[in-house]
Amino acid sequence: MPVNIEKYQSIISELNPNKVQLIAVSKTKPNEDIIELYNLGHRAFGENYVQELVDKAASLPKDIHWHFIGHLQSNKVKYIAPFVHLIHGVDSEKLLQEINKQAIKQNRVIDCLLQVHIATEETKFGFDAEDIQELIQSGRLAQYANIRIKGLMGMASFSDDPSLLTKEFMSLKQIFDQAATHLGNPFTILSMGMSSDYALAIRLGSNMVRIGSLLFGARNYSK
Ligand SMILES: *Cc1c(COP(=O)(O)O)cnc(C)c1O
Repeated sequence: MPVNIEKYQSIISELNPNKVQLIAVSKTKPNEDIIELYNLGHRAFGENYVQELVDKAASLPKDIHWHFIGHLQSNKVKYIAPFVHLIHGVDSEKLLQEINKQAIKQNRVIDCLLQVHIATEETKFGFDAEDIQELIQSGRLAQYANIRIKGLMGMASFSDDPSLLTKEFMSLKQIFDQAATHLGNPFTILSMGMSSDYALAIRLGSNMVRIGSLLFGARNYSK
């Protein structure tokens, strides 16, 4: 399935006036698809499998900004720590500790988003709302000197009920606004919205959307 260039251009022209950044989610898709968008000037790509990301980063242009958007296991942080641009799914203090440790080894600061669990489904990862508020207000984040917390990420329920999605996005935006008053300057990114719900997410305050299937077509996991 070819990359949908027209869709890409229409999404970009929709996002630019609102200052929303597009992360093109290329998981399971071949390098040629990434290069097609790269040749149009796109640099921000999202992956959620460590091995796949490491392979792609090794073989594709070095000025790509790789966003890790999946669930990250602590024992795999070391593989992406040398080059990852932004880790979206940080969902435990154990993971914060490990990212900090690997960032120190690489002599760099790694940008991260804390993931908040906003969906009704049990399966989605993330801190609960109360836990994240406690973590942010506790001041404990300051001990991770090689991590810069740039904002929050969340995934709404797998649902087409706009009132449910609205409720979930609004609660994330509210947590984000509160956290921003505590954390100040670098805390500016609210990553919410995917192919099916990004327009609603933007209306409710998102400034970073992660879009895969609208650009690259449906994913085939059977291969
Ligand atoms: C796969 C994925 C996306 C993109 O999903 P689409 O519905 O294809 O746009 C966004 N965010 C995360 C965390 C993902 O894993």
